[in-house]
Amino acid sequence: MKLTTKIIIGLLAGAIAGLLLNLFAPDAFGILNKFVFNPLGKIFISLITMLVVPIVLFSIILGVAGLGDPKKLGRMGFKTIAYFLATTAIAIVIGLILAMTIKPGNLGTFDTKSAEFSAEKAPPVSDTLLNIIPTNPIDALASGNMLQVIVFAIFIGLALTALGEKTKTFYRFVEQGNEIMMYLVNIVMKFAPYGTFGLIASAIGSQGLSAIKSMGVYMIVVLLGLIIHAVLTYGSSVYFLGNMNPVAFFKGFAPAMGVAFSTSSSNATLPISMETARRNLKVPEPISSFVQPLGATINMDGTAIMQGVATIFIAQVYNVDLSMTQILTVILTAVLASIGTAGVPGVGLIMLAMVLQSVNLPVEGIGLILGIDRLLDMVRTAVNITGDASCAVVVAEGERRRQQRELAREERERSGA
Ligand code: ASP
Repeated sequence: MKLTTKIIIGLLAGAIAGLLLNLFAPDAFGILNKFVFNPLGKIFISLITMLVVPIVLFSIILGVAGLGDPKKLGRMGFKTIAYFLATTAIAIVIGLILAMTIKPGNLGTFDTKSAEFSAEKAPPVSDTLLNIIPTNPIDALASGNMLQVIVFAIFIGLALTALGEKTKTFYRFVEQGNEIMMYLVNIVMKFAPYGTFGLIASAIGSQGLSAIKSMGVYMIVVLLGLIIHAVLTYGSSVYFLGNMNPVAFFKGFAPAMGVAFSTSSSNATLPISMETARRNLKVPEPISSFVQPLGATINMDGTAIMQGVATIFIAQVYNVDLSMTQILTVILTAVLASIGTAGVPGVGLIMLAMVLQSVNLPVEGIGLILGIDRLLDMVRTAVNITGDASCAVVVAEGERRRQQRELAREERERSGA
């Protein structure tokens, strides 16, 4: 049986087990969760997280060194960031439009009096950006500060390119390190169906299903936004800019989406999303090594959709009319918030506080959506990493075309000479 099928079976079996236990045997759920679901999920998350830092480090060093030309890195960096910003802005607009049309906050009564949420202090986005140069690379590696690790790896990759022959041994070391990590990803993936089973059973089983009922319309609006964005934005960009059949894209990337869905963490899924993009979508290694770790850290379209819908929802519940300027402020802050959102479970909600504050909406409103956010986090994380993969496909195609043009030009010059 193919791994994708096994992961899907794991997801479905987990969802059914969680749901049935939640409805009919909550006590048994407690015991099973403690001794089966939770340990399975935890082991899986630890196994993949174990590989994240070394993979990002090795593969970016190799990716940058493999590009050969620093100019190429600049071009790719520019395209990648432009794609990330554009798709994130589209995502928020989709979320805003859906929420303004369906008006989830006006459908139903919401208990605003007991809504509570104390916003943890989110790091200002300017700090995140200013701190991307690590003052202590070992500390960055040890604490898993992904942006800093990326920057450090880019520097090493550039040095390897400049020093060439002199650093051949180190290059070989990194190459072999990368080889080992990729081998381990394949081993760990074998555990994915059991891990996803445990994670989903645990997540669904421990949800208060009554919360889902009262927040049903809000959830549907967010889910609708996520589906529309994935199908239209990514589908059309891989088709028109990436020269790839969207069905083949989604089918090929499905295993990584399944893992993101169960872990709710773009970062933890990174080893698997890189491996899946390389193997099934044929994204060249240097491109996947650069685009996907960066995307897992700064590109969160699914999160942006949730933030767009949540902001309008909260405004509706609290009867606040947002002006056009305020809506533009929401778009801008949500783009920044999604850059600042770390790829770990639940952070999108913390960053939402920043968006709400930017237009003076009550932060306690987050308390209303808190109960069901864990479930939406699963879906939006799958969308987040799909956005990164679609960017990798688009950048790869751009580079391929460029290479072809260069070859054709050389050919012409040669035949003209
Ligand atoms: N869990 C999301 C991710 O890792 C971030 C969030 O929206 O909370 O991509």
